[in-house]
Amino acid sequence: MAEWTHRPHTPSGGLMDRRRFLQGAAAASLLPLLGSRLLAPAWARAPLGALRSRVRPGDRGWPTPAQWEELRQAVGGRLIEVHVPSALQTCLKAPGSAACQAVFAELRNPFYVGDQPGLTQSSGWYRAWTSRPSVYAVAASNAADVVAAVDFARRHNLRLVVKGGGHSYQGTSDAPDSLLVWTRRMNAIALHDAFVGQGCEGQQAPHPAVSVAAGAMWADAYHAVTTQAGRYVQGGGCTSVGVAGLVQSGGFGSFSKNYGTAAAGLLEAEIVTADGAVRIANACTNPDLFWGIKGGGGGSLGVVTRLTLRTRELPEQFGGTSAKIRATSATAFRALIDRFVDFYAEHLLNPHWGEQIKLDPDHTLHISMVSQGLDSTQAQAVWQPFFDWVAQSPHDYALVETPSIGSGPARRWWDVAWREQHVAGFDD
Ligand SMILES: Cc1cc2nc3c(=O)[nH]c(=O)nc-3n(C[C@H](O)[C@H](O)[C@H](O)COP(=O)(O)OP(=O)(O)OC[C@H]3O[C@@H](n4cnc5c(N)ncnc54)[C@H](O)[C@@H]3O)c2cc1C
Repeated sequence: MAEWTHRPHTPSGGLMDRRRFLQGAAAASLLPLLGSRLLAPAWARAPLGALRSRVRPGDRGWPTPAQWEELRQAVGGRLIEVHVPSALQTCLKAPGSAACQAVFAELRNPFYVGDQPGLTQSSGWYRAWTSRPSVYAVAASNAADVVAAVDFARRHNLRLVVKGGGHSYQGTSDAPDSLLVWTRRMNAIALHDAFVGQGCEGQQAPHPAVSVAAGAMWADAYHAVTTQAGRYVQGGGCTSVGVAGLVQSGGFGSFSKNYGTAAAGLLEAEIVTADGAVRIANACTNPDLFWGIKGGGGGSLGVVTRLTLRTRELPEQFGGTSAKIRATSATAFRALIDRFVDFYAEHLLNPHWGEQIKLDPDHTLHISMVSQGLDSTQAQAVWQPFFDWVAQSPHDYALVETPSIGSGPARRWWDVAWREQHVAGFDD
């Protein structure tokens, strides 16, 4: 579909392909060595400090208390020391204690984890990488705070790391001995009826859109766009994931088979690059930077401070289908998988259906899918042939979770209060 395959124009107006972009990026990283830094785009010019190894606590160049105090003043007092919550230390000494159990209960709550600058989504996981928090964090509340942090890190040659929703499984929003830009408090959201990117006036049709600050989670965006305004924005399935992190890694959501990736819906970003400049990136202004952040990976090209995403008409209905079918033998399980794959190709591989199935080692097929644009009767009709097939072989298959297939008003999909009242078992 043309709308998902935007190829940016270079400032000179020519089309830029992926190979040329990568060659340019590689060249940009070598240019300082060649003394030709001016040939790289301004945002890609590596600061000379990047050629030295970074400074850690205890090193001669580590900022003095007075210099940290200067940064604290520059960011309105929003410089904080980062610690792993002390309760987690308890677990190292007394893993079975009640205090430790309480910590682990908290760690299962992604919203709690996101509220702690010193934690990551894999904190406390058995044999996961062990996160070590930054020394300090700027709990940024605006782009000026981010600029102050970027400038300070560049001046003192510190490792800088950015954390939004904190859902990086690989730990890319976490680094020991670093300065953290923590965007959690930047969660302002504004809706637009007819958004045109800066510099795109007269070149681009206006689009209904939503601007979200860098620390917003998808829960915040869905609440503002769908529950409050009755429209749709393409994001991820997990509501505690950060908008900025997901968009920069492409972002595939429950209904992406209809609406495309989250990055494809990006109209504009505001981004602080390594030189401390606040830049606008869209199809008309800094288009190469815009292309790079639509899937180039968070933290690669700068600190994004605001994203503007296209909104769409909301379908009448969203729905869900869940079931668990257990096969009584390995042979029957193989036949079940075979049948399901055929059924999927014929009936579910289309813009109405999304999400997942899981195959468990105990020969269980776990269906957990969602639909858009189908009412309950239509959704049930889609699944009928599959469940009829299962029912024909009662010796081979047992329904360990009865199929539940239904739809409801799409506007209430992310409306927690409504779901608590109207969806059975929602608050279990
Ligand atoms: C439970 C769970 C469910 C998920 N579900 C989905 C899904 O449905 N679809 C999908 O596509 N992905 C999904 N993901 C993957 C997720 O989209 C990525 O891990 C994403 O990068 C997380 O973004 P974050 O802001 O929450 O995480 P963070 O850990 O805060 O950030 C991730 C990366 O982005 C960088 N970053 C964060 N904010 C900024 C910023 N403002 N500017 C520049 N860089 C920044 C960080 O430095 C880090 O490198 C899921 C992950 C988890 C843990």
